[in-house]
Amino acid sequence: MKSIAHLWRFVKPYDRQAVLGLLLLAVVVAVDLALPRLLQQLINTGIQQRDMGAILNISLVMVGLTLVSAAGTVGSMLFAVRVSQMAATDMRRELFVHIQSFSFANLDRLPTGQLVTRLTSDISQVAQFIWMTMRSFVRAPLMMVGSLILVFLTNWQLGLLMLVLMPITIVIFMFYASKAQPLFMQVLRKLERLNTILQENLAGVRVVRAFVRASHENRRFDATNVDLMGRAIRVERMLAVLAPTLRLLVNLGLVAVVWFGGVQVVEGNLNVGQIVALSNYVWWVMMPLVMLSLSVGFISSADASTQRIFEVLDSQPELVDEARAQALPAVEGRVALENVVFTYGGYDETAVLEGINLVVEPGETVALVGATGAGKSTLINLVPRFYDVSEGRVTLDGVDVRDVTLDSLRAQVGAVLQETVLFSGTIGDNIRYGRPDARDEEVVAAARAAQAHDFITSFPAGYDTLIGQRGVNLSGGQKQRVAIARALLARPRVLIMDDSTSSVDVETEGKILSALDRLVAGADGYIRTRLVVAQRISTIMNADRIVVLDRGRIAANGTHRELLASSPIYREIYQSQLGNHEGGGSHEG
Ligand code: ADP
Repeated sequence: MKSIAHLWRFVKPYDRQAVLGLLLLAVVVAVDLALPRLLQQLINTGIQQRDMGAILNISLVMVGLTLVSAAGTVGSMLFAVRVSQMAATDMRRELFVHIQSFSFANLDRLPTGQLVTRLTSDISQVAQFIWMTMRSFVRAPLMMVGSLILVFLTNWQLGLLMLVLMPITIVIFMFYASKAQPLFMQVLRKLERLNTILQENLAGVRVVRAFVRASHENRRFDATNVDLMGRAIRVERMLAVLAPTLRLLVNLGLVAVVWFGGVQVVEGNLNVGQIVALSNYVWWVMMPLVMLSLSVGFISSADASTQRIFEVLDSQPELVDEARAQALPAVEGRVALENVVFTYGGYDETAVLEGINLVVEPGETVALVGATGAGKSTLINLVPRFYDVSEGRVTLDGVDVRDVTLDSLRAQVGAVLQETVLFSGTIGDNIRYGRPDARDEEVVAAARAAQAHDFITSFPAGYDTLIGQRGVNLSGGQKQRVAIARALLARPRVLIMDDSTSSVDVETEGKILSALDRLVAGADGYIRTRLVVAQRISTIMNADRIVVLDRGRIAANGTHRELLASSPIYREIYQSQLGNHEGGGSHEG
């Protein structure tokens, strides 16, 4: 239950409204506590002495107070809703902003699915907890203490009896809470596992279809689902026993009041009205404990949600501007990796890259080839500093990338990543993503270079065509071309491309490459250096230089012709693709 206390940070900005809500709640409690006293009077002075006037007066006061109590309850609820929703909004905003600061390494550790759950259902859970706290969790103990005091004031012997019954209830409650909490946590974990399977399955639904694995997925889902049911039943079984047990205790308390009180009435120490009032108070002394017990599950899950939210908030961005970092001035585009060693960290401590020394001169295009897992993507991700090297350094025009601000570095290093991500919105907006103020002509020029202009203008709405859920679905190759246009529009000095034309047909790819060549060589060209990862030999054959990576090391380095003569690995890749006479596993994009 420690985590829940952290929530205060989000409620604090609204403490005034929270206090107002609680004050209203205090009024409600005071009124509710007064009502049994009035009932007592009604019985004693009104009913027993047959005084119609008194009955009417007291009844009217009671109705009035009930109205006050109702109005107070509504008011305090409204404050509770406001405070909890405002806190939740702030929490969502803070989480979102914090996630924006995450580096690639942070995102490796907290996958998208989990971040989504934390931003949505965990925050709702916590908001509901704040609301419940301001409503019931504060009210119940107030009623309990107030009632206990009133019981004592009316009859101290009965007060003592309550003091005996209460610890019994508390012990039962504690016992139950200690048993139930781990169970609730298990249920939550199972639920999370179920969500993971669901998310994986929905995200990969096409793969499931393609491999005809639906029945396997059904079994996997079913196993977890049944497991969840088993645990949920165990929890509910405890609840099924607990609730009547606690009620029994409450009723025993009531019987004690009536029995013990009855004796006192006979002895003349107590009157009937007092007994009625007392039985009300006894109810209020015991009920909060019952309510709390029944809320154990809810409180546990709110606690777990709080933990999960703070796990994200407390993760430090692993890659930030160093204190000494300065803005990178416009560069010529000389990229150098010096004695680079790289380890992803986490479980696997083996180096993914080792002893990398590579210089790419301005104006040069260097292609990386090698088997999957050789480390190609990892290598090019070091240039825009998506990850930091473990040893050695990466420099741009001789400046260590860790010595400059991330913004200024990435403004000059454009990246077309392996996974093409477009946002919902128009195609034009997507191309403008890195430079929202670009002129239309510039957008068109970038799209032309990326061979995207023709297919874009074939849509009736052209650049204003919506993509995503409410718009057109672009093919893999079309998406890649939009992503290339997006990178080009930002006018980077250094362009890194990670398998960025894999879904584009060979002919179109050829056109993209020559357009890029013109951007490198041309008088108004802005790109100086290109680092390209590709599977297809056709993509890279004409590169100035080809670097062959093998298990994290540079195995060979030279032109296509040189490597054919000197590198067995390169020859193997080349020949394996020649058999595939198109020159690579291309498919129409
Ligand atoms: P390539 O691009 O040549 O296929 P990668 O650079 O993607 O190779 O991967 C090199 C190695 O690093 C692989 O063994 C891969 O499993 C591992 N790897 C890649 N990305 C990550 C990551 N985000 N976290 C941990 N290991 C990774």
